[in-house]
Amino acid sequence: MSVKIDMEKMVSLCKRRGFIFQSSEIYGGLSACWDYGPLGIELKRNIKDAWWRSMVQARDDMVGLDSSILMHPQTWVASGHVAGFQDPLVDCKSCRRRWRADDVNEDRCPECGGELTEPRLFNLMFKTFFGAVEEEAAVVYLRPETAQGVFVNFANVMATARKKLPLGIAQIGKAFRNEITAGNFIFRDREFEMMEAEFFVKPGTDEQWLKYWLEERFNWYVNLGIQKENLRIREHSKDELAHYARACYDIDYLFPMGWSELEGIANRGDFDLTQHAQHSGKDLSYYDPDTEERYVPYVIEPSAGVDRSALAFLLDAYDEEPDKKEIRVLLRLHPDLAPIKVAVLPLSRNEALVPMARDVHADLRQRFMTQYDDAQSVGRRYRRQDEIGTPFCVTIDFQSLEDKQVTIRDRDSMKQIRVPVAELKNSLAAKLAGEPLDVLPPGGRYWLGFPD
Ligand code: ATP
Repeated sequence: MSVKIDMEKMVSLCKRRGFIFQSSEIYGGLSACWDYGPLGIELKRNIKDAWWRSMVQARDDMVGLDSSILMHPQTWVASGHVAGFQDPLVDCKSCRRRWRADDVNEDRCPECGGELTEPRLFNLMFKTFFGAVEEEAAVVYLRPETAQGVFVNFANVMATARKKLPLGIAQIGKAFRNEITAGNFIFRDREFEMMEAEFFVKPGTDEQWLKYWLEERFNWYVNLGIQKENLRIREHSKDELAHYARACYDIDYLFPMGWSELEGIANRGDFDLTQHAQHSGKDLSYYDPDTEERYVPYVIEPSAGVDRSALAFLLDAYDEEPDKKEIRVLLRLHPDLAPIKVAVLPLSRNEALVPMARDVHADLRQRFMTQYDDAQSVGRRYRRQDEIGTPFCVTIDFQSLEDKQVTIRDRDSMKQIRVPVAELKNSLAAKLAGEPLDVLPPGGRYWLGFPD
């Protein structure tokens, strides 16, 4: 069971250890834009890979897509975003702070108590100019979601994928929203990444598929280590539903600021395909060869944020343990998500150890994301790896030079085993895939280890 951590502490850990930095920090930063450092990028890639494996690679009924960020402006007219993707905002007449009207309960500023203006509608899409002329005719938008790239490619994919419905199209990519009140670290950004699937089904089967996806997606987080009690499912009320949705559920996570949306799973009906068919004049219906019917499919959409997931995984993995007079800080990240899988640590910088330690490292890095660390005491180095969530450390000592064995030390239990170098790579691979530490490879043995 991990301990709760507040957001400030997480921001500081992420900065100190190279997970996440504020964008353009040397110029004072750009609000709600974030840069992922050497460890953050690994975490993010691992999250996206885990999603892709479960959504595309492991299924017969899903294919992938990577559509462009800039799209024909009519796309956003048809989707309803030009007219409807807006939030009401209010300004404080005294301190000038801007608020989302639905975040303010009274007609006074939550910051200074000043009087607020009447709400005005504010479109969240970023605009830019296409081509050399800065005129209204050349306005295009940075996409606020990846889904529309899927809808406009529905016919292309159906014509080429040689698949029948139900079929999903999955996409991971950047999205941009000019959020009125961004914040809570990487929870609400103006530039972020989404992992979305549009799952096309026969009308009438949509409710059952909505339930199916809700369960699948909930289990994805649990299987990657999020504690069940920190997740909940919340159904949208009728007046909360987006213009396109027939029904929608959120998977919420218990973030430090309270329960907040991690992922939305919506039944979008035939809204999008119908709109695009009308606006483009192209037929986006589907002919079902089994029933000989033609229909416009309904779509179930699980839509998740990469950054929000990264935040939830980090918060949930954070733990502190009493450690003699100090505190051991660790990230109990699932091995699939951990940025570094194995750290290679020579017991000391003694020259005799270096060639073997370098050889072990050179071999392991062919297979895993690794780090080589020889600075300071081995105990300190274990702590450093604990704090970035590295599941295993491999230590090379003087005896290793004689018996060609090294130790594997487990992040969570701090237990150690000793294994022949020849078995190391396979043994680590098995343990990273979930084999318990005390399952020994041939020639391996339990080991009291170096004092942790
Ligand atoms: P919210 O109510 O928090 O604004 P939303 O309902 O507008 O979110 P969706 O349009 O359903 O969000 O987006 C799907 C997912 O994309 C969200 O569950 C979240 O994980 C992610 N997401 C949306 N907006 C942002 C943002 N500004 N920053 C980071 N992630 C976001």
